[in-house]
Amino acid sequence: MKHNSLRISFEFYPPKTDEGHKNLQKAALAIAKVEPDFFSVTYGAGGSLQNGTVAVVKELQKSLSVPVAPHLTCINSTREEISSLLTLYKSLGVKRIVALRGDLPAGVQNTGELKFASDLIHLIRDTTQDYFQIEVGAYPEFHPQSQNALDDVLNFKKKVEAGATNAITQYFYNPDAYFNYIDYCAKLGIYIPIIPGIMPITHFEKLARFSALCGAEIPQWIAKRLSAYGDDEESVQAFGLEVVYDLCQRLIAGGAPGLHFYTLNQAEVSLRLLKLLNVTVPEAVKYEIEMKA
Ligand code: FAD
Repeated sequence: MKHNSLRISFEFYPPKTDEGHKNLQKAALAIAKVEPDFFSVTYGAGGSLQNGTVAVVKELQKSLSVPVAPHLTCINSTREEISSLLTLYKSLGVKRIVALRGDLPAGVQNTGELKFASDLIHLIRDTTQDYFQIEVGAYPEFHPQSQNALDDVLNFKKKVEAGATNAITQYFYNPDAYFNYIDYCAKLGIYIPIIPGIMPITHFEKLARFSALCGAEIPQWIAKRLSAYGDDEESVQAFGLEVVYDLCQRLIAGGAPGLHFYTLNQAEVSLRLLKLLNVTVPEAVKYEIEMKA
């Protein structure tokens, strides 16, 4: 791609309100100018509506020239439901799917026909062969439900053997966790590109709540600095930018093949990070980012 050979992608979620919708459109338009490799759109995550994903995919594809990759989860869905979504995505010209297990809603016990992401990947390959690029989730700090680190990586390997082409990681703030994970995966015979997922820091309490749920560690020195800023959002954001910039810099210097930004439907922080990192961005966009900074 165009960014010093790094693969750069951005994740959005389907908004629930009109205002949220406008924010998403504004963010996607601003980010499209840096010509990312793709946008991804979450599916049923955090209670968002699943059919919202299809609507956002259609809308982004219609209005912008960035390829769009819908996320697709398999838990609690039938093979038939998934197959018909795949047919729909094919008809829309979608070429890439982010294939995940998903999490059961509170109180639901039955996983349905497909228990793990590897089952979903088998289904995608069985029904559509090599048509889609398949991205999967990877966990440098290991998945919170895994029995142990080795089993978790061996389960990741099952996804690769089933036909995953790339992986995007859960976010993390300790670059050593990523590099250690990459080495561990290589030792166990996993060689697909593993792209770090980057979560900008803009609000400490929300981040702490979400991190506790998904098992991402906020190192103590970061948590304590952030919590000391209290309601001072400006300082939280300035420090957050410093931390995530340093993280991205180390990841790129250490050979990470790209960056995937969890945007939370906001463009500014991710774009500022790209500019600070000196990842090639068209001149006109650099000017716009500087004006907003
Ligand atoms: P899997 O790879 O199936 O792994 C889940 C757990 O099961 C792990 O502990 C693994 O070790 C274990 N396991 C796997 N296979 C086996 C096996 N054969 N036998 C025994 N144990 C096994 N969630 C959403 O709902 N919507 C989204 O849009 C979404 N987007 C995401 C994007 C990214 C980049 C990431 C990293 C996560 C995303 N998630 C999303 C969250 C994801 O659904 C959860 O993390 C979920 O708990 C695991 O999904 P997975 O695909 O990694 O699962």
